[in-house]
Amino acid sequence: MSRHILVTGAGSGIGAAVAATFAADGWTVTGVDLREPQLRESLACLATPARMLVADLSDPAAPDRMVREAWEAGGPVDALVNAAGIYPARAFLELDAQVWDQVQAVNVRAPMLATRAFAELAIGAGRPGSVVNISSGSALRARPGAAHYSTSKAAVEMLTKAAAIELGGAGIRVNAVSPGFVTVDSTANPVTEEYAAAVAVNPLGRRGRPGDIAAAVAWLVSPAAEWVTGSIVRVDGGASAGTTTLPAHWPELTDVQAPAGATSMTSEGAAL
Ligand code: NAP
Repeated sequence: MSRHILVTGAGSGIGAAVAATFAADGWTVTGVDLREPQLRESLACLATPARMLVADLSDPAAPDRMVREAWEAGGPVDALVNAAGIYPARAFLELDAQVWDQVQAVNVRAPMLATRAFAELAIGAGRPGSVVNISSGSALRARPGAAHYSTSKAAVEMLTKAAAIELGGAGIRVNAVSPGFVTVDSTANPVTEEYAAAVAVNPLGRRGRPGDIAAAVAWLVSPAAEWVTGSIVRVDGGASAGTTTLPAHWPELTDVQAPAGATSMTSEGAAL
């Protein structure tokens, strides 16, 4: 029997790549997004016929309804990928309750409510399941104009861990992929080239592609990752490992005087 995956944000960018990757592997896909034309176009390209659900996930009732509709119409759901997200730039002094709440609602509350509904149905049916949330390098590293977004992604990472420890006993794994900068040409989340050039720096030297993230999601959902839960997999060309933009050389400390009687060390670390 075909496996069934529910993917939010399937109309664009990373969510669309996740839907395409699983469809190519024979999965039945239910794709969810805000705008119907974009979602329809994205799902029409898949290798297997897909189901479409149009929903505004900032509505508190929508995530639960989405999961139940997908389950009823397409059969039991085996995996849920929460990829819908928004990242509107807003300077800290210009933040207000409206933009703050919208970002938390789409980026954190919706994955929480969808995961809760999915877990409830899976447990009721006695089935295992897998959830993958899409986090961001912003969860670890603040940047100007993104306090609301970074906070939402830090929360998604803790949501992932908290859900994992409570649902593991029922055979439901919850993990996250944390992408570095990925070129998606999003209409919902436009970024300037100046910003992209600055944020995309990483040791592997190229920008991320949606398929890089989808491949990690596919691994997390697969049986190969059956002992992985509560993990945040960073797929970012090494960006979170450290910085490449600092000088590699600095003055040697030849003038430092050791205190009288102190033991000094060679460069290899052996005591003299
Ligand atoms: P994207 O191409 O804009 O995809 C995001 C999707 O979410 C869009 O299809 C958008 O729909 C949908 N969406 C937005 N608000 C929604 C709502 N209220 N209800 C339902 N769907 C909604 O952006 P992306 O870059 O692929 O982002 C996907 C995920 O990756 C996000 O969680 C983002 O935070 C994360 N991420 C992206 C990057 C990156 O560099 N691209 C890096 C780190 C993390 P509409 O287009 O119809 O508005």
